[in-house]
Amino acid sequence: MQQGAVQSSLSLWGGVSAGTATNRPKVHRAMGFLHLCQPDPGKSCAACCGIYNYADSTPEALTARLRRRTAMFRSIVHGRGDLATYSRAIKGSEEQAKRYEVIYCCEYAGFIDPEERRVGCLLHPCLNGNEDLRDVSFYGRQLCNDHFCPSYHYISRAEQQALLHIFDDWYLYGLCLTDIDLVKTYFQLIGNAVGEMPDPALFRKDPIRRVAGDFFLMKLSWPFRSPDVNRFGKYYFDGSQYMIHHIDYDALGCDRSVFDRIFLSLSSIFASADVLRQAEAIIRNHIETFVRAFHSMH
Ligand code: SF4
Ligand code: SF4
Repeated sequence: MQQGAVQSSLSLWGGVSAGTATNRPKVHRAMGFLHLCQPDPGKSCAACCGIYNYADSTPEALTARLRRRTAMFRSIVHGRGDLATYSRAIKGSEEQAKRYEVIYCCEYAGFIDPEERRVGCLLHPCLNGNEDLRDVSFYGRQLCNDHFCPSYHYISRAEQQALLHIFDDWYLYGLCLTDIDLVKTYFQLIGNAVGEMPDPALFRKDPIRRVAGDFFLMKLSWPFRSPDVNRFGKYYFDGSQYMIHHIDYDALGCDRSVFDRIFLSLSSIFASADVLRQAEAIIRNHIETFVRAFHSMH
């Protein structure tokens, strides 16, 4: 596998990045920069380290995987010389089946706090007495440290702030943060419905926080999600490359839905036009619920 090929394929989860706190945010904070990788003590993201690329990437399976990995890192790694032993132990004992073979799943992603609220890099200097061990990783220290995913660029600052208020668990946070279509379409729909992009501060409190959270929870509970392992959001993998899985509206006898981008992000599959209408009604209900919550706070 060519490293370049893997890097480009990682645009699924936003390219490679540290996934853990670096020193740079201190510099950027003065310019209004939000550190999406490690925003606060209650959550973090390690999507570009490949954590959602396992065939079994349910919250339960990923939590168990990262918990075991973190414990093994602590028991095996007492210095740089132990890293190869750790890597072999993980690769030899973990289920390795992936959604997309071309996307690397880094064995050094784990929990970086005792409460298991933040995922990140076990090789980061913050966890290793200021020694940066990331040079042993597949991507190398510089790539892991320097790259920021497209969510930093395409999700507006107001949308980023709102997301930081909505989520308080790492699993859903990383999953939704890196689904740019889902995020931007949601804020566009609710913004159009209330006539403005809601003030991000409104997402700090219920009912706005709850109704927005309920919308993004559909990433886990969407009843029309394709069961195919090679589907992830709007993408599917055909064995050699990943492509966008479009919905065949002609076959359903319908025009393209106004919620098409949301349906793609939720890996939807519709058996009939009636089912599509049910799905549209669910999305519409989420938007209307938001509008009621918005007006109740004004
Ligand atoms: S926010 Fe983006 S760059 Fe940071 S860990 Fe998540 S996917 Fe990677
Ligand atoms: S070494 Fe692995 S876990 Fe650490 S930042 Fe790089 S890809 Fe992520």
